[in-house]
Amino acid sequence: MSPIYVSEVKYMIICKNRTDLQSVITKIKAQGKSLGFVPTMGALHQGHISLIHQSVQTCDITCASIFVNPTQFNNPHDLQTYPRTLDSDIAMLNEAGCDIVFVPEVIDMYPQGTQHIESYNFGSLETVMEGAFRPGHFNGVAIIVKRLFDLIPADTAFFGLKDYQQVAIIRALVEQEKIPVRIVACPTVREPDGLAMSSRNMRLNAEQRKQAVEISKTLFTVQAMVGKKSVDDVKKFVIDTLNNVPLLSVEYFEIVHQNTLQPIQNWNEPAVACVAVNVGDVRLIDNVLL
Ligand code: AMP
Repeated sequence: MSPIYVSEVKYMIICKNRTDLQSVITKIKAQGKSLGFVPTMGALHQGHISLIHQSVQTCDITCASIFVNPTQFNNPHDLQTYPRTLDSDIAMLNEAGCDIVFVPEVIDMYPQGTQHIESYNFGSLETVMEGAFRPGHFNGVAIIVKRLFDLIPADTAFFGLKDYQQVAIIRALVEQEKIPVRIVACPTVREPDGLAMSSRNMRLNAEQRKQAVEISKTLFTVQAMVGKKSVDDVKKFVIDTLNNVPLLSVEYFEIVHQNTLQPIQNWNEPAVACVAVNVGDVRLIDNVLL
């Protein structure tokens, strides 16, 4: 029988409330170690894990959070059906080398309740795309991320470009609130067929999953059309192509400036193509840089 080297195994610390978290964070800070932070809503996949890997590679200590934030859901059905897979999430984080995971309850993050909450203003960054179609969504994102940053004084925080507009909002939040954290935006991780990984993908049935691949396929065709067709023609092409797939229904498709997120008129500006598509009752987003 081979020996069991218990002492060589590194165990991840699981903090289920703010008191536990604060005592761990105090120790880390006292040791002068750099802290990387990866906020998530759980139902983890390799997209999330790529952020953990980035943090593990560049920071002494990596902390993840798992919290399905009620204030960022404008649709109660979406909140209710959001996948929750805590046991496998914890196993995946441990395996990826994460040091601490914070798994608070709603009461920990919203001790005064979720009704009377602060209000942020991100100007034109939040009046387009996700901001336009999901009223209150980015305010909820900003509230939870600010509260998490208050609890977890990270040197660096890692976010996925899969949520392109969210990264812009987080950068604006950090600037507005003067939060001393470096934001690192990480590339979108995709399934082998191109579909952007998303926790919501696990809610797709087999036929929906098969058709959902058309979202990324169509976005990739856009990359080849840049400069050859007008912006308006490309928009029409994408919307028509996706709406012609029986189970897909486009909510929006926009070609916007990479920094301002405002629609562009010609190809002279750095652009990103962003789409939101309903696949049955599952809402998926994706984007490609152009
Ligand atoms: P969520 O759990 O959906 O709130 O996502 C937590 C973090 O993971 C966010 O910064 C997301 O942008 C990022 N993320 C989600 N899906 C992917 C993906 N496919 N590739 C890279 N990052 C992702």
